[in-house]
Amino acid sequence: MNTPQNITILGAGIMGLMSAYTLFKSGHAITIYDPKGFPADNASFMAGGMLAPYSEIEHMDLHWIEAGLAGIDIWRGMDMDTSFSQKGSLLIAHPEDNYILERFKNHLPSKLQTPHNPKDIEPALDNKFQNGLFLNEEAHVNPETTMNALCTFLENKIEFKTSSITPEDCSANWILDCRGMASDDPELRGVKGEIIIVRNPEFTLVRPVRLMHPRYPLYIVPRPDHTFMIGATVIETSDNQNVTLRSSMELMSALYALSPSFGDAEIIEIKAGIRPAYSDNLPRISINNNVISAGGLFRHGYLLAPVMAQCVTDHLAGVENKHMSLFNKGADHESHNQRAA
Ligand SMILES: Cc1cc2nc3c(=O)[nH]c(=O)nc-3n(C[C@H](O)[C@H](O)[C@H](O)COP(=O)(O)OP(=O)(O)OC[C@H]3O[C@@H](n4cnc5c(N)ncnc54)[C@H](O)[C@@H]3O)c2cc1C
Repeated sequence: MNTPQNITILGAGIMGLMSAYTLFKSGHAITIYDPKGFPADNASFMAGGMLAPYSEIEHMDLHWIEAGLAGIDIWRGMDMDTSFSQKGSLLIAHPEDNYILERFKNHLPSKLQTPHNPKDIEPALDNKFQNGLFLNEEAHVNPETTMNALCTFLENKIEFKTSSITPEDCSANWILDCRGMASDDPELRGVKGEIIIVRNPEFTLVRPVRLMHPRYPLYIVPRPDHTFMIGATVIETSDNQNVTLRSSMELMSALYALSPSFGDAEIIEIKAGIRPAYSDNLPRISINNNVISAGGLFRHGYLLAPVMAQCVTDHLAGVENKHMSLFNKGADHESHNQRAA
């Protein structure tokens, strides 16, 4: 039986909100702080919302893929509107970049290596895309809808405080630090991601399309009303202020290459966010007395936050969670190094 605890959560990004939801459902009393309000305008709010473990297979081993698939199961079962859709992802490349698609294919389990004609899956794509891979288990949510839905669900159930706080200021039984880049963990770095949102009534997509690119994979995520998000650059900097001309041209020309109809698309928004990341780009949960830190979610905030929130909840209940060792690895490694030093 779970003993109800008083828990203070620092930060209302996807990690903080998903934890508040999961912990509340387990009967705990929650207070959540964020100086930017609820929902906060943060990296989570502007994300693509793709739940795409296989697309990340070059960076993650099979245990992480399993955790990502478990995350998709949790999203599917959420009792609120997240705009969850599981219609797979389509991976394509310009003819001259086909080698990237081929190289990527070799990382996939054999069941996913079958080539597909992209136009059979997304008929609106330009004819030049002849080769594609279809990752049918992948899914996506709409981050804005999701964060609004989580805040609405939690209203009147937990306490919201629109202010900053540090773990030292908290007197709760447990403190969950989900401050993203504002965490005081010196190992975290920022990785900037720039995106553009456009409306193109002439174009339709059912699922996210990932365009393999020599520098980083670009993706186009369909949103309601013929709106599309294209992202995201991967730039080693914590400067959140500006989207560069180079990045916006790169993103726009990728859109135009998908279909020339994007030439007449209306630009709705251009913006950038900072992904909190450790050197291996994998997230960590570290536990220091009654302070639990959950961070470094890099490009996988939506994919992995539900599983991480469940790991935190299980830890408080004394229940073993088979995914916990993935997230502890970084912390174990670190303390091992410190002991060795
Ligand atoms: C362009 C872009 C696209 C992305 N696309 C995807 C995607 O498709 N799929 C996916 O899974 N992931 C994606 N990500 C990654 C995902 O957005 C991040 O991993 C995730 O947002 C990190 O969430 P977080 O809750 O750790 O941090 P954040 O979202 O940064 O939230 C941290 C919060 O802490 C608050 N805070 C700071 N200091 C304090 C304090 N002292 N007290 C209280 N609160 C405080 C901040 O105000 C902020 O609201 C994307 C990221 C970017 C930038």
